[in-house]
Amino acid sequence: MKGRKLLMIPGPIEFTPEVLRAMGMATTSHVAPNFIEVFGQALERLRQVFLCPSGQPFVIAGSGTLAMDIAAANLIEPGDNALVVNTGYFSDRFAAILERYGAAVTQVRAPAVGDAPALEEVEAALKEHRPKLMTITHVDTSTAVGADVKGLAALGREYGALVVVDGVCAVAGEEMRQEQWDIDLALTASQKAIGVPPGLALLVAGPRAMDAFRKRKTPVGNYYADWTKWLPIMEGYEARQPRYFGTPPVNLIWALGVSLGQILDEGMDARFARHQRLSKALKAAVTALGLRQVPVAPDKTATTLTAPYYPDGVDRTVLGHIKEAGVILAGGLHPAIKAQYFRIGHMGVVSASDILATVGAIEKGLSQVGYEFEAGVGLAAAQAVLIRQ
Ligand code: PMP
Repeated sequence: MKGRKLLMIPGPIEFTPEVLRAMGMATTSHVAPNFIEVFGQALERLRQVFLCPSGQPFVIAGSGTLAMDIAAANLIEPGDNALVVNTGYFSDRFAAILERYGAAVTQVRAPAVGDAPALEEVEAALKEHRPKLMTITHVDTSTAVGADVKGLAALGREYGALVVVDGVCAVAGEEMRQEQWDIDLALTASQKAIGVPPGLALLVAGPRAMDAFRKRKTPVGNYYADWTKWLPIMEGYEARQPRYFGTPPVNLIWALGVSLGQILDEGMDARFARHQRLSKALKAAVTALGLRQVPVAPDKTATTLTAPYYPDGVDRTVLGHIKEAGVILAGGLHPAIKAQYFRIGHMGVVSASDILATVGAIEKGLSQVGYEFEAGVGLAAAQAVLIRQ
């Protein structure tokens, strides 16, 4: 499409034509047989995408923050201990939500912006506080820090905590094997690597999380989020029966069914590998252009997102020039460094040509603000990775 910009932010992302067509279909009744079939199938597919065959999926109208709210509302009772492995802005948000439901929250913080807490520190906090629940932000979208979810989840389980993963910027992009990695609840939102316009909160709760919910002594302190209301709806649709609690967003769920089908057609392993390859190419380009990244080390860096600092003498006005060159990027988000960096999202249907177009636009933008570098050095670095792998 001529004149159209490439959207390379950490959500919403680019969506496939098939997904967008589903959004434009004539809306039917939420109890129409063709809708019941799609909803039921989407729930089944969600289990496959989260790699959690024994999980209970929930698809509820709302954004990722609602998914976090639902997790906290249903799993926390007033006075419960909770531990937040804090890697940035969205970990702070999870702590605030948990506190809202009466949890006593302990936070293990990263030593610096762009870093992640060491496993030993997390273990010490688990030992001391014995939390009922522990949260991990898989990719902190404010810093592009990727957490060691597998290692942290194993640690959390060792100390009996329910392990909750905020996978909003990760699920279906970063490698995450919910059941194999012993994660009790993983959540995301539709507009990121799941590839559907904003509006769906998506959760998969494993058997221990559902058990903790069933054993609650106090009612869930949020009417809309209460699994007591939603579980029969999800079970009903999966059994291909009409059910009603709150009107489901029919077109978004059609689009979800399409996107999950496309994700599973690619295959989860192939999808993880593609995201890794493209991320490596973009990060190589950024480094070749002389830009440092917010994550302090490659093993602390997300796959779905890259967060470069502006080079000396450059500020966010470069983003306008990059947009002029055809690619929309995001500014900084973490309050401590907001004006010093920008963010490039690369998840979902992103391709090698999108990466090259993005690097080309970044080079153009940087040259227009007077930053000196050898033209094409970023493109060559990205292409070297793309050709090799
Ligand atoms: N957690 C993470 C890691 C996120 O990146 C975001 C959104 N950027 C959220 C939670 C909140 O999601 P939403 O904006 O859809 O409410």
